[in-house]
Amino acid sequence: MDSQNSDVLTTDVIVIGGGPAGLSAALVLGRARRSVAVIDEGKPRNRVTHESHGFLTRDSISPNDFHQIAKEQILKYPSVSFESDVVSSVSGSDEKFSVAMESGRIIYSRKILFATGMKDVLPDIKGLTEVYGRSAFVCPFCDGWELRDRHISVIGTNKMGLHLVKMVSGWTKHITFLTNGSQFLATEDLIDLERHHVETCQDSIKQIDSIEGMVQRIIFKSDTTIDCEGIFFVPKLVQATPIPASLGCKMTDDNPFSTISTDPLGRTNVVGVYSAGDAATQSHQLIQAASSGAMAAAAIQLDLLDTEWSKAR
Ligand SMILES: Cc1cc2nc3c(=O)[nH]c(=O)nc-3n(C[C@H](O)[C@H](O)[C@H](O)COP(=O)(O)OP(=O)(O)OC[C@H]3O[C@@H](n4cnc5c(N)ncnc54)[C@H](O)[C@@H]3O)c2cc1C
Repeated sequence: MDSQNSDVLTTDVIVIGGGPAGLSAALVLGRARRSVAVIDEGKPRNRVTHESHGFLTRDSISPNDFHQIAKEQILKYPSVSFESDVVSSVSGSDEKFSVAMESGRIIYSRKILFATGMKDVLPDIKGLTEVYGRSAFVCPFCDGWELRDRHISVIGTNKMGLHLVKMVSGWTKHITFLTNGSQFLATEDLIDLERHHVETCQDSIKQIDSIEGMVQRIIFKSDTTIDCEGIFFVPKLVQATPIPASLGCKMTDDNPFSTISTDPLGRTNVVGVYSAGDAATQSHQLIQAASSGAMAAAAIQLDLLDTEWSKAR
């Protein structure tokens, strides 16, 4: 890593985001003897949960422990450093990017990897924040096992809700589908839900009652209630940062949410800019984010070697 003065660093790669995608990329790049700065705000998507599931050899690990172990292992490679900061802008082009942080610091790099993830925008329902990550979740692959055979409410205000009901039915047969006042269900949807013994309620939700994060009941504006032991809901997903789009990265359309377009190895349309993890795919799992981070790191290393190889005399 070149140090131009005490405040300015030039690295081979700046990884923006220190979730599983960014950490995995940093590990591969550190082992490839690249200088890497990982800049991370420290707000991974799953930080609300106590346990993460389904990552081989790490099933049920807490998000914090996952991060700590990864960081300890990566720091064995001395060319990798970590910055606890928020990136506010990225400018420049291949081989000479400049990354500005909220602290006022600027770091320069040859390549940029956006591993910035997505943000969940929760439906505006009183009491949902209190249960989110404890007994209300977004993905049955992640948290369905813990709620198996329980009485579950699925909340969705559009067709994605019907998809979620079908998914959740793999883990429990006790499902109530709540549209929270949205009237999008067609007669054939209602018949289909009934055929699968899914109760449906189209009233608006007044609030979710819980004790220490565990949902107890849902109260409707009509003052009727239903008891339930867990919730799955459809969140609205948005990019954690608009910086890739403002740098010229092509985005997919909003169906159901917009991601950064990349080739299979994480290269975006902007030369020298890569993306991995949730920000660049529609399917969101820790192991997949880590895998795509490793692939993007390989692409970065190959592209750096190509440049160096062609310049050598
Ligand atoms: C409630 C919940 C539970 C989940 N449970 C599981 C589970 O059990 N198993 C599973 O496999 N998956 C689970 N997931 C999905 C999993 O969390 C994501 O797939 C995974 O975190 C994506 O990794 P990532 O590295 O792409 O992004 P993230 O983990 O979200 O990390 C992105 C990082 O980038 C940082 N960042 C963003 N913008 C900036 C910026 N401008 N400057 C600096 N840093 C920035 C963020 O603060 C964050 O630290 C869950 C998701 C949710 C919402």
